[in-house]
Amino acid sequence: MYSSSTQHSGSENSGLKGEIKQLIWGRRWLLPVPSELKPAYERQRLDDFGRLVVIGSPLLFLMYVGMNAFSYFIYNSVLVGDDRIVYLITEFLSGVILFGSLLLVRRPAIQKKFNSWVPVAAGLLIACKIIGGLLMDSQELAINQVYITVAIIIVATLALQTSAMASLATCVIASSGFIAAAYAADDNYVALFVYYYLMTCLICLFISGLAEDQYRMSFLKSVLLEYEASEIQRLNEVLEKMARQDSLTGLPNRRNFDEALLREWERSRREKTAVAVLLLDIDYFKTYNDTYGHPAGDECLAAVARSLSGAMRRSGDMVARYGGEEFVVILPNTDRDGAEDVARRLIAAVDGLSMAHAGSAISEHVTISVGVAIAVPEMNVSYKRIIDDADASLYEAKKRGRHQYSMAS
Ligand code: GH3
Ligand code: MG
Ligand code: MG
Repeated sequence: MYSSSTQHSGSENSGLKGEIKQLIWGRRWLLPVPSELKPAYERQRLDDFGRLVVIGSPLLFLMYVGMNAFSYFIYNSVLVGDDRIVYLITEFLSGVILFGSLLLVRRPAIQKKFNSWVPVAAGLLIACKIIGGLLMDSQELAINQVYITVAIIIVATLALQTSAMASLATCVIASSGFIAAAYAADDNYVALFVYYYLMTCLICLFISGLAEDQYRMSFLKSVLLEYEASEIQRLNEVLEKMARQDSLTGLPNRRNFDEALLREWERSRREKTAVAVLLLDIDYFKTYNDTYGHPAGDECLAAVARSLSGAMRRSGDMVARYGGEEFVVILPNTDRDGAEDVARRLIAAVDGLSMAHAGSAISEHVTISVGVAIAVPEMNVSYKRIIDDADASLYEAKKRGRHQYSMAS
């Protein structure tokens, strides 16, 4: 329905959304469609008209043939003299207008402008019928023409779903033929036509206006609904992201890491490749907090997180916050040398920050220790095993004096 080519950015949407809400609440007669939505509105009307053409064309054809057959057989006895000629000319002209329209409407470029030419064609068709009716001598035939005229007005203004303005144009164009014929006709069917014609026009125009009003209202409501749906989707994405991200460092959080490791573990098992996990821990971080305060500790964590992310090279590698002052790295498809290389690089990256750490017993700067574990996953071995191994390595690195890495044998 309301297509993506008219979608706007969030802020633009909220302005437009407010405007649409006001329009809907205002309940004005013939709600104006905001200019930004006009193209989408026109497109939707055209779509609906296109569908109508598909089912409506054969129906109109049948209607024309049926009405003529009916008139011909029922009124055959009065279809004589001039009346017969008038009848045939009228039907011929109506047929040209009707079938011409049915042929033209199949061309997309012409269909697109249906609101401009359909009223003209319909107006001429009705005028043709009225003129025919007014010029006939037989009252019976004239009444028959009145009925047919009424049927055409109803189809043209209501069934074709043109705009209310287009319906008005149909009636105005039809009236001009009516007025011309009323002068030319010397009999008294004029009153009959005036009565039925005007009554039908007025009722149809009113209903056509109501229909367009409803159409606009439901269009605006559908746009609103779509905006709301996309807003909800956006919020869901934000929530989803929040649920997977650590707010302090912006890194993937523990939950995200667990899922990623499980995925990688299964993949490595299938492909029989090695996966490496590095557990990183800031040295003497408790004393960092004690010395510089908790807020400074938070800033230190964020800075370390940035330097770790910056040191990652391969797109498949992942660094996450494991909890507290601990981080974790997954290196898919990586051997011992590769993992050792990354461990050294990460230690160097944090050293490169040169963040003063007066409370550290091993350095003047903030440093990390790293525990490395590597495995080619086997059947029935949980991915938690590699984390335990990395944790054991980390413990080893701490025991050996910190600011270094250790690898599980
Ligand atoms: P080690 O060298 O053995 O790792 O010693 P450590 O002091 O780093 O380790 P310990 O586990 O004793 O202390 C970790 C500290 O990290 C304690 C805790 O207050 C601090 N910490 C954990 N999470 C946060 C955080 O989000 N912000 C800040 N500022 N501190 C945190
Ligand atoms: Mg720790
Ligand atoms: Mg620590």
